[in-house]
Amino acid sequence: MFKQPGHARNWDHKALAGDHSVPRVAGGKLADRLLHGTCNSQRQDGRWDDVRPTVIGCHPREWLQRMRDMGRIGAAASVPIIEADAELAMDW
Ligand SMILES: [Zn+2]
Repeated sequence: MFKQPGHARNWDHKALAGDHSVPRVAGGKLADRLLHGTCNSQRQDGRWDDVRPTVIGCHPREWLQRMRDMGRIGAAASVPIIEADAELAMDW
């Protein structure tokens, strides 16, 4: 993972984002790890952790579509357009 914004080697080409592994809504006060920007956005408050990419076995770029297919997220949710190297992915 690469910290600088726009780093071409992060699969989503975004800066890494500080994530609260214990969500703020659950009392977490520390951003205690870095996630890809898109992974961090998709995680929201941890409500999808039971079906996060590493659990269901998909790349994070495919995750929103998988959630649509599973009926977990409505069709109105946008899917980020990503061109990238899957081999560099680190799933949330
Ligand atoms: Zn990631």
